[in-house]
Amino acid sequence: MYDVLVVGGSYAGIAAALQLARARRKVAVIDAGNRRNRFASAAHGFLSRDGHTPDLIARQARRQLLAYPSVDWIEDTVSRCSGSLDAFEATTTRGEVFRGRRLILATGVNDELPEVPGLAALWGRKVFHCPYCHGYELERGSIGVLAAGEMAFHHAVVVSEWGPTTLFANGVFQPDLEQQGVFGQRGIAIEPARLAGVQDTGAGISVELETGGTVELAGLFVQARTSPACPIAEQLGCNIEESPMGTHVGTNGTQETSVPGVFAAGDTARAAGNLTFAVSDGAMAGAGAHRSLIFPPV
Ligand SMILES: Cc1cc2nc3c(=O)[nH]c(=O)nc-3n(C[C@H](O)[C@H](O)[C@H](O)COP(=O)(O)OP(=O)(O)OC[C@H]3O[C@@H](n4cnc5c(N)ncnc54)[C@H](O)[C@@H]3O)c2cc1C
Repeated sequence: MYDVLVVGGSYAGIAAALQLARARRKVAVIDAGNRRNRFASAAHGFLSRDGHTPDLIARQARRQLLAYPSVDWIEDTVSRCSGSLDAFEATTTRGEVFRGRRLILATGVNDELPEVPGLAALWGRKVFHCPYCHGYELERGSIGVLAAGEMAFHHAVVVSEWGPTTLFANGVFQPDLEQQGVFGQRGIAIEPARLAGVQDTGAGISVELETGGTVELAGLFVQARTSPACPIAEQLGCNIEESPMGTHVGTNGTQETSVPGVFAAGDTARAAGNLTFAVSDGAMAGAGAHRSLIFPPV
């Protein structure tokens, strides 16, 4: 019996386990190894690691965590979790069963990308969702924003801080008069035609329009819709919340979900995430789970 089972061993999961390891608690981290940013060659904006590879950051963090003897690391996928306070079980796809008194879900999200030929292959290299993570490296070149719905207005206005911006309405977004006024003030161009495909040009990305033309860009931003990467929180009956970006697991101030003893941290538990927030949430979930072992809920 572990004190805490941590499902997901990326930034949030390692940060959670570290707090518990330092409290000398027995922790199992079960990780499938598919970090959300595995498509990107560099991670930006994370203090003291700006520009490092996502893999290096995770490997160093894991090595430091595993120096604590009360931590076990299991490379596997959890297919099912069940149980309740003081008696949770996690079953993996290899058929192993782990038992723990508390459960932390740090399982990340899936990104649902717009269906444009060639787009998925450029995800994390020329196609991004977050300008804070990858806008700077576009060197103030021409930027595209591909509309997926009403969030396109907000996204295009924010992205235009990083360079001259074209909003591709792609048949799913029609700005109203007020929005057109804002686009005008900010110099944001609107391209109404649907996209036929995108291609890597080496230096940037070429957007092919169904009307026949092409637009050359340094990079393209999309509003990827996110949802929890695995169904465990739903299986356990945790509240799932909606946001304009998709769905995520609802938590309170200590990252505890609506199910006592189940905590959630990182992207899976917030509307929009990054490494810094994932580590912060993870540290809070670790401390929250630890407190709940000391002061059990009544
Ligand atoms: C293309 C791209 C580029 C990005 N660039 C940046 C950047 O430059 N800077 C930045 O701050 N943020 C960046 N982000 C965001 C960043 O990747 C996430 O915020 C961060 O990875 C969230 O960490 P996490 O630990 O919550 O989840 P993740 O890193 O996604 O990790 C979740 C882990 O849980 C595991 N898992 C899931 N389900 C199970 C299961 N059932 N059993 C066992 N394990 C499971 C997964 O395999 C994975 O290892 C980027 C995102 C993308 C998509």
